[in-house]
Amino acid sequence: MENPFLNAQKQLENVAEYLDISSDILEILKVPQAVLEVNIPVRMDGGEIRVFRGFRSQHNNALGPYKGGIRFHPNVTKEEVMALSMWMSWKCAVAGIPFGGGKGGVAVNPKELSEGELERLSRGYARAICPLIGPEVDVPAPDVGTNGKIMNWMMEEVGGLATFTGKSVEKGGSLGREQATGRGGVCVLHALLAKQISNFKFQISNCRVAVQGFGNVGYWFAKLAQGAGFEIMAISDSKGGIVGDLRNMESVREWKEKSGSVVGFRGTKTITNEELLELDCDVLVPAALENAITRDNADKIKAKIIIEMANGPITPEADEILNKKGILVVPDILANSGGVTVSSFEWEQNRRGEKWPESTVNNKLEEKITGAFEEVWKTKEDKKVDLRLAAYILAVDKVVKAM
Ligand code: NAD
Repeated sequence: MENPFLNAQKQLENVAEYLDISSDILEILKVPQAVLEVNIPVRMDGGEIRVFRGFRSQHNNALGPYKGGIRFHPNVTKEEVMALSMWMSWKCAVAGIPFGGGKGGVAVNPKELSEGELERLSRGYARAICPLIGPEVDVPAPDVGTNGKIMNWMMEEVGGLATFTGKSVEKGGSLGREQATGRGGVCVLHALLAKQISNFKFQISNCRVAVQGFGNVGYWFAKLAQGAGFEIMAISDSKGGIVGDLRNMESVREWKEKSGSVVGFRGTKTITNEELLELDCDVLVPAALENAITRDNADKIKAKIIIEMANGPITPEADEILNKKGILVVPDILANSGGVTVSSFEWEQNRRGEKWPESTVNNKLEEKITGAFEEVWKTKEDKKVDLRLAAYILAVDKVVKAM
């Protein structure tokens, strides 16, 4: 398994070459400002205690309070959380929202816990990181394996409406937050196609999209892209992928909820996740976990455009291979910034005691993410670099100036 933190540090070093950053500043940015490691005892339904390991990493707060999700996944490690917190610093800077970068996680498979165990773990984690968080300090949100219900429990446990975002709407969450990451990704795809770059001139109606991952991000990207006229040719989850009749995304979701996977949905053929990534499609959307595309499979990718909806789905070595193949990659810190953007709207609404209509949230999101895309695009043209480097140059420069 590649170490995502080393990848994140390598990306930062690459960017530093394009910016006039002192070695002192670079040293500071290469590591999080703080990392908390906690051990959370949870009384299991059988009566015994199990201790779960959790982390909260705070990378940089020059632009505002730390902001970033909490991941519940068996493979969570300190290094992963540290990498994700650094990416959050760049993402918030690119998105143009007043936040720095943070991230949290617990090494656990939430699917193996009962509802009660999950609640006790969530509340225990919130209590453990409580001294480090707050509306002006660090504002967590959902990520892989967590959701609005878990944010509600955490918020109840430590108090402060604006301490967590991604809460359910009844508990102070923002309308449009659930769909926001996927919606932002679709806005970015539209903005990219509007550039009419040679080799990438697609008609939306015959632009074939393959989506890896069918959680919050993958589902909403697929559903909203389909609604906008794109053809979704394949989707997958951790158990495998499917190709075939995917015209009714809601039914696929219902099937997954019932059966535990998208695999076996009527009118479709099963494929592996490897096969999905290597499909002959126009747009590939990795929306699962990091390191989906590595030096082992990068050469086999046939898509012309990759929209990185997951965080860190392409390793730096794979990135080089894709670049040489002429594949256009929209980097995670831009492509999936819709979620944190609407999280920042939620924080704003909570603090002002307001509730914005969904149309207001969606319009503001579209304006913000399209503006971010145009800024990154301009940097790419000015500096003659790829989109990832452009996004990083822009982001790191903003953070360094704020420091
Ligand atoms: P989620 O837990 O809702 O869904 C994850 C999905 O990925 C599930 O369908 C799961 O089955 C699938 N998956 C896991 N391992 C897989 C594998 N090896 N191959 C194929 N599929 C696999 O998580 P999410 O919130 O949708 O997050 C997905 C990615 O997007 C993560 O990288 C996350 O950090 C990133 N992200 C999420 C948000 C957000 O708002 N939720 C915002 C920005 C970025």
